[in-house]
Amino acid sequence: MFAKSNHLFNGSKNLLKRFASTNATVPTYKLVVIGGGTGGLAVSSTLSKILGQNEIAIIEPSDVHYYQPLWTFVGAGVKTLADSAKPTEELIPKDAYWIKNKVAKVQPDNKLIELTDGQKIGYDYLVVATGLECHWNKIRGLPETLGKDGVTSNYSTDTVETTWKFIREFKGGNAIFTMPSTPIKCPGAAIKVAYLAEDTFTKNRVRNKSNVIYNSAMGKIFSIDKYAKSLERVAKERGIEVNLGTELKEIRSQQKEAVFDCKGTEKVFNYDLLHVTPPMGPPSFIGESGLGNKQGYVDVDKYTLQHVKYPNIFSLGDSSSAPTSKTAAAISVQSGVLKKNLLDAMTGIFDPHTAAKYDGYASCPLLVGRDKLILAEFSGYTGLPLETFPIDQGQERSFMYWLTKEVIPEIYWNGLLKGTWTGPQRFRNFFSYLP
Ligand code: FAD
Repeated sequence: MFAKSNHLFNGSKNLLKRFASTNATVPTYKLVVIGGGTGGLAVSSTLSKILGQNEIAIIEPSDVHYYQPLWTFVGAGVKTLADSAKPTEELIPKDAYWIKNKVAKVQPDNKLIELTDGQKIGYDYLVVATGLECHWNKIRGLPETLGKDGVTSNYSTDTVETTWKFIREFKGGNAIFTMPSTPIKCPGAAIKVAYLAEDTFTKNRVRNKSNVIYNSAMGKIFSIDKYAKSLERVAKERGIEVNLGTELKEIRSQQKEAVFDCKGTEKVFNYDLLHVTPPMGPPSFIGESGLGNKQGYVDVDKYTLQHVKYPNIFSLGDSSSAPTSKTAAAISVQSGVLKKNLLDAMTGIFDPHTAAKYDGYASCPLLVGRDKLILAEFSGYTGLPLETFPIDQGQERSFMYWLTKEVIPEIYWNGLLKGTWTGPQRFRNFFSYLP
């Protein structure tokens, strides 16, 4: 029998073996975090310090971590893809153990994780933070066209820089921007790229021979009325055509045609530039492991972020069922709530009635030009604004643009991922005391 602190290094698999007394063949951790993206790192940074060395394992297959919100700026030529990237190795907290691998399945009743190479990992507590996957193949003709002949997307590291190439080289014609009917990472990102492209066309003097068209499968331009009004106003002022209830289904690249379903009727648009925001969904292992709701998101209580069936499992971020906008901003507040409730569960004092509760906070910096931004902050649970600054945030401002481009990335790398930034509540309180 091995003591809990006994470790062996398995060089071939790059897996530090940890033998718990309960199971001598399966490395077992006090806490396993699936996904070393925004949510996974935000919680494991703090918890690894509290729980001690190698009590936490993070299962994450990628070598590179991207600050994805920067991709809107990359697609507009303001930042580079390299600006958004850091090696995962640098970001894994020093007290946590990184298992560079992918989860195939969880057996929640046995507290076991199966990796894609067949290895098994045990856990006492589990956090699932696996984000969303892009379903490129759900649009006919898209996988073979993406990145070529005017078809691009800010949602892939392979094409986000191509977006800027196509925008800056655009000579006129139809520039179409799409939004699917599924939840996506940052719902505002699908339209921000349209405003930024329109701004560039104006600067490049091709605007008068261009049609800028935003085709969204949704019934509203933005889910929160206050910001929807602002976005509609700006679209009107700038002559951007907005078609709601219009979902991209197929790309016929030979003819440069994009086929949309418009409330049951097929509508074909010719395009010269087509920016696609693809349908997205959580990784399928969540549903296959019995952890998902009907849509396959980790089924958690939307306030406490604890799994509805398994009290030793928590989830945050894009792959959780919390019904709010899927943003890094939402994760900041969720991470504070999750850490508190998980630690209480570990020490046996978790009580759902007195537990920390997530209020649905999310934020979306809505770029409407190369120096103008509407900072939407709201609760996805109430549908009402939840703003930090004592000014009308429905108004586009250069200060908000600068904040989002220069300050928020610093907060991301040095605050959120290090576990010290849990949202702007303190600032909101401070500003609320000002006369
Ligand atoms: P991720 O950060 O995506 O991490 C999930 C991790 O899980 C990944 O590293 C992945 O490799 C890993 N994983 C997946 N499957 C498995 C598996 N089977 N086993 C092990 N690991 C697995 N948010 C904002 O707040 N503001 C913005 O302005 C904004 N703009 C955006 C613009 C764009 C173009 C994009 C793409 C996103 C934007 N976001 C924005 C959204 C934000 O980036 C995400 O909401 C956030 O990163 C989600 O964090 P997460 O931890 O849930 O998922």
